[in-house]
Amino acid sequence: MTVAPTDTRSRLERDSTIVSAEAWLSDLEVETVRTDAVQSFLKQETIFVRIRTAGGGEGLGYSYTIGTGGAAVIALLRSGLLDALIGLDADRPEAVWRALFSSTRATTVGAITSLALAAVDTAVWDARCTAAGLPLWVAAGGARPSIPLYDTEGGWLHFDTDELVAQAVESLARGLGGVKIKVGKPRGHEDLERLTAVREAVGPGMDIMIDANQSMTAAEAMRRAALFEPLDIFWFEEPLPADDVAGHRRLAESTSLPIAVGESLYSIGQFREYLQAGAASIVQVDVARIGGITPWLKVAHLAESFNVAVAPHFLMELHVSLTCAVPNALYLEHIPQLRAVTAAEMTITDGHGVAPTAPGLGIEWDLDAVDRLRVL
Ligand code: MG
Repeated sequence: MTVAPTDTRSRLERDSTIVSAEAWLSDLEVETVRTDAVQSFLKQETIFVRIRTAGGGEGLGYSYTIGTGGAAVIALLRSGLLDALIGLDADRPEAVWRALFSSTRATTVGAITSLALAAVDTAVWDARCTAAGLPLWVAAGGARPSIPLYDTEGGWLHFDTDELVAQAVESLARGLGGVKIKVGKPRGHEDLERLTAVREAVGPGMDIMIDANQSMTAAEAMRRAALFEPLDIFWFEEPLPADDVAGHRRLAESTSLPIAVGESLYSIGQFREYLQAGAASIVQVDVARIGGITPWLKVAHLAESFNVAVAPHFLMELHVSLTCAVPNALYLEHIPQLRAVTAAEMTITDGHGVAPTAPGLGIEWDLDAVDRLRVL
């Protein structure tokens, strides 16, 4: 007997047809003040999408902003995208993603649309993995059960040198493999002094990443990269505006520091441009900003084909499963932000984030807390 390839529902003996979809916004206060060269993280506007299936299944997904635009994402979801989900198959994330993407042609590629698609796509993957009884990291590839962590919470630009050093030493003592220090002080020597103090304190056995948050010109980034080179910097993140691919390529050709980009890119094609140009040595694809798990995995696999590693931006509670799914993940960024709305924290063992083993996304939401923080 042959089974039609599209007949997944009968094969799996459940009805995964989406019968309801809702979206709302909950504001999470930042867990610590976070400042970089161009902005402050004001609050996590968390966009939730919940879907239910005819067979009684459910999926809860989310995306986020760092303080602006969340209402626009909710408006886009409620003005058609949620209705368009009804009747689609939650077991088929590619079909769902493509249907919604096609219906938003006039506003793609763009941040608001990608964030809306991500909230839906993560809900679809949650429903699909839950119904299949598989944790996300296994369903999406299952490369390994845990991933090394580096810490960003101790490296913000407003910290003075003593604070940077103290927190880097603490991260080292906790077994984390690296620390990220924000750069972009008015003068290069200020950055250099801060980084030198951290390197002297932690020694050669810890990775030091730096992040300029798109604040520099190519010329200034080349000058500062040369200053920083003796410190054995692990990567130089977002040195230039994200749409300056040519500038990143010139910088990459001029320095031994690996260039990391991706948190401000919103489509697979933008990553392809960077990789083809040799302008990125590490990609930091963000599951919310790229439009969900479905495109995130494609970017990770695309990077693999260029022999480039993935170290995603933020959202460690979800990225822990995705970095464990693919073979070319390098690091997970440690920035806890869901403690106010979850019943359990991400497990950390020996400096590694451990992928949840529960079916679905594996995030234990405290739904009463989420509801109390609801603003839209
Ligand atoms: Mg960054």
